[in-house]
Amino acid sequence: MAHTHIRHSQDAAEPFSRSRVDAVLRTLPSHGWQAGWIGRRDRALLVLSQIAGLTYHQIAELKAGDVAISAGVATIRVPGGSATLQQSEDDLICAPCALARWLHALELTVIYPDNCVVASVIGRAMPLTANSPHLCQGNSEISESTAQMSLMPTIDQWGVPVVTSVLAGPARPRETPNRLPVQRVGVILPDAAAVDFRAGGLAGIAEELLAAGSAAS
Ligand SMILES: [Zn+2]
Repeated sequence: MAHTHIRHSQDAAEPFSRSRVDAVLRTLPSHGWQAGWIGRRDRALLVLSQIAGLTYHQIAELKAGDVAISAGVATIRVPGGSATLQQSEDDLICAPCALARWLHALELTVIYPDNCVVASVIGRAMPLTANSPHLCQGNSEISESTAQMSLMPTIDQWGVPVVTSVLAGPARPRETPNRLPVQRVGVILPDAAAVDFRAGGLAGIAEELLAAGSAAS
């Protein structure tokens, strides 16, 4: 056989019950810097791994443009097929909304390459509640630059994704001395080792979240 897919034990999504996952989703922060940013990332990660049932390897390979949200349904394109998520009435546990909010957060990093602005927008965001408006009801339009981003990008020391599309995009602002000293490293396409590395990292984050959730319940 020419190609053998090696399945790592960490790669498979753990079969936690939906009620356990929902309990953890309700505890994740939605505003404040950096809590709201990390909380959005964690919410999307749990939705993808525990509700959509994707492997961490699949998640690590996703681009933002692989997720489409419309009329309360999220469709995630994976090699050889797609996963579909339906909305929940409670916005805290609505899977398509979790993905829509994360796409919106990623879009902010493309619109505002200055991390201070992203921090300010997320920091002042309205806290998410069960009755928050469903972002999943509209069409979640993202720019082409965002679509090309990794959905779960490498996070730098400021908690901001390391992206290249900012450098290539048309809206690159002039350099200002007040920008955070973040080195945005160019990453072309993640090779297999990089994807494995990120998949392992994502698995660790998700397991930590779910373990904390079970300790609390
Ligand atoms: Zn929703």
